[in-house]
Amino acid sequence: MGGLAECHGHIFMNGQDYRAAAALHRNGPVESDVRAHLAACRDAGITYFRDGGDAWGVSLLAARLAGEYGIRYATPAFAIHRQGRYGSIVGHGYGDLKEYRALVAQAKAAGADFIKLMFSGVLDCVRYGGVSCPPLPGAEIREIVHIAHQEGFPVMAHVNGPQAIRDALEAGTDSIEHGFYMAPDCAKALGSTIWVPTHAAIHAFLGRPGFSDQVVSQALAEQAERLRQAAASGGTIAAGSDSGAVGVPHGAGLLQERALLEEILGGTEVLAQGDRALMERFCPRR
Ligand SMILES: [Zn+2]
Repeated sequence: MGGLAECHGHIFMNGQDYRAAAALHRNGPVESDVRAHLAACRDAGITYFRDGGDAWGVSLLAARLAGEYGIRYATPAFAIHRQGRYGSIVGHGYGDLKEYRALVAQAKAAGADFIKLMFSGVLDCVRYGGVSCPPLPGAEIREIVHIAHQEGFPVMAHVNGPQAIRDALEAGTDSIEHGFYMAPDCAKALGSTIWVPTHAAIHAFLGRPGFSDQVVSQALAEQAERLRQAAASGGTIAAGSDSGAVGVPHGAGLLQERALLEEILGGTEVLAQGDRALMERFCPRR
């Protein structure tokens, strides 16, 4: 069966300007915009798309329309973050576990196929080793993953930084996204967790004013080494570009991600297996 899998994208974003995308959909998803992005995915050969979430129901609309474009679409409805930490740009926040449970129930009622969680901030592309905010404590990561699993959902988690990645793996998170600054021993022991490195989204920072090419290059080189270690240890790696993010257009972003990962991993075999595993675990429920 042909067709490519975009294992991490945000259909509400346009690959250029997050603020403009947020403003566009703020009063309800704009169908013409969603259709244009779905068409770009179809034209690139994409037949599966897993959305990383948005706060305005854009991915839920995309999930309803995607069949017209020959795309199987998996959505979390919205991503869930702890209030005050990173994540409000792609979803809703909780203050305590009671509120967290209510958000899981809300996602379920909205038609979520899985739960998307935010364990850490974003990669700091100016300061080496930096992440934009502190990670959640390990106990909280284990608890929120456990609750999502209890509700019958697989978990996709945004995570950077060595400790949060370790906690994510220990919690049995189904897929980890980005995963920059992973410790070598974690790369060699991903276990049942699928790694979606979104290499292209960070690669897109190279040459961008206001960021350090040296920091970005070093983070990318380290991640490449961890990916080779993971693959050599039988770890599962899938291709997702974070399409919609700045410098990562829908469709073309995945082709770039695949080219980068194929170069790092020396072929397409690992990705073919990883994409299959991810599509099985994160299948649309409709
Ligand atoms: Zn994302």
